[in-house]
Order: sequence, then structure tokens, then C-alpha cells
Amino acid sequence: MFTHEHFEDFLTKIRTAEPENPILSGTYPLKIKGSSRWFKVVARPLWVMEESSELTGVIGKFIDVHDEQVELDQLKQLAKIDSLTGLFNRAYAKRALDTILNNEADASQNYALLVFDIDFFKSANDEFGHLFGDQVLANVAHRIQANVRKSDISARIGGDEFLIFMEYKDHLEQMIERIFQALNGSFQGYDITVSMGVACFPQDGLDYMTLFHHADQALYAAKRRGRRQYCCYESSMQDLLTGVSAEA
Ligand code: GH3
Ligand code: MG
Repeated sequence: MFTHEHFEDFLTKIRTAEPENPILSGTYPLKIKGSSRWFKVVARPLWVMEESSELTGVIGKFIDVHDEQVELDQLKQLAKIDSLTGLFNRAYAKRALDTILNNEADASQNYALLVFDIDFFKSANDEFGHLFGDQVLANVAHRIQANVRKSDISARIGGDEFLIFMEYKDHLEQMIERIFQALNGSFQGYDITVSMGVACFPQDGLDYMTLFHHADQALYAAKRRGRRQYCCYESSMQDLLTGVSAEA
């Protein structure tokens, strides 16, 4: 059985089909004996004298594509995810932020982009081995997930570099402070500290590239000021990254 919404979608395809191009198809989850299975529906409307105004019936068939569809969904999911940490990967984060900033956000909403990088992470690898380094990255991801909402977007965007993109109403400073403090801490005796740069929509940029570039400049300022701190973007940071690629 179709859901009401999917049935309406299928009916629209039938109503808008033309005799010159009569075959239509769609893939829908159908309820069968209480459980949902994916089917591809291929159909052809029948018209009186092949005039699209007078529909007399529809012929077609249902093809079970459940296993392929589930596999496809899993592959799509995997393509979004960084396998080490389970966070979104860089490419997906960029697409998701682009979509929000280009289509959904208006200037009455406020978003903060937090970009951060683990301090002296090479030393974790050098002193305790690459596997331990991986565990540190996973622990940072765990700290992120424990401190953001489901609607926020968190991603690992490079070796030891992460981002969090979140909407906020007010109390920005407290929100950043809370997240920053939660990211720093001890893991199996190793002291994790991070440096963070913050850029906000709309005041620091309206699109992903600008926001990312500005958050990156602020991160660079935090590193230069001694690490283990966060900096919010200021226009005086403009020249900090001159000659340094902020490719996003
Ligand atoms: P800084 O304070 O300036 O950030 O110093 P850093 O030592 O953290 O330097 P940087 O951020 O440039 O180095 C990141 C290191 O992360 C380099 C690389 O060896 C390591 N790395 C990158 N990807 C992985 C990974 O998947 N696993 C592990 N264990 N290490 C990684
Ligand atoms: Mg680092």
C-alpha cells in the first residue's frame, strides 16, 4: 500500500504524462503486511484515442528493488561520513552548509561556524603512536557529539581539524565558551587542547567560503596567540592568512 503522499506523487505523474512520452516510473516504499519494502513502479496511462485529456486506465508493474535501495542508501550514508570518527566528512559538511546558507538562512537567523584544530597533535602520534593518535581523534569526536544538538552540523574536515556549525539565538559567547571547555581535557593521561576560530552568519559572511575563510583566519590567530584558546573573527585578522591557502 502507498502512503497518501506517495500515492499523490504517483497520481501527479500519471496526470501529467503525455502520449508522446507515456512511460513513467518512481521508486516508493510500500507497506506490505505491516512492513515497508521499496518497489519501483513502472506504468503507462491509457487514453481514449491517445488524447491525454481522456484517461481510461493505467497498466503497469511493481518491481521489488528493496535490497538495491537499502544498499544505495547505505552507500549514500557512507559517502557522507568520516570513517574514523563517525562525524560528517568535509565534502558533505560543505554541501550541507551551502544548502543552509544559500536556501534556508535569512539575515534574521544567527549561525556560528567553529573551526578548530588539535594543538601539537603530531606529538601524540610521535610519542604514543599513530593508533593512539586515532583514538585521540575519536575522543575529540565523542566530546563534540556530547556537546552539540542534533540539528548542528559537526564534521572532521582534515587530519586533526574539525568544524561545528550551529544556529544560536543569543548568549553566543557562553555557547562558544562551553563547547571550547568541553573539547579540552585529558584522554588516557594525554592532555588534549584545541585552538578554535569562530565566524558568524550574517555579520562575518553570508556564504560558506567567506565564513570558512574567516573562521580559519581566527583559528590561525588563536594558534599565533599561544594555542589553547578561541578567537572570534575580526576584520583586523584579514591579512593573517595572506599567502596561506584557505581552500574549502
Ligand atoms: P598545531 O598545534 O600547529 O596544530 O600542531 P600539530 O602538531 O597539531 O600540527 P598539525 O595540525 O599541522 O598536524 C596534524 C597532524 O595530524 C599531522 C598528521 O601526522 C596527523 N594526522 C592527520 N591525519 C591523521 C589520522 O587520521 N590519524 C592520526 N593518528 N594522525 C593524523
Ligand atoms: Mg594541529
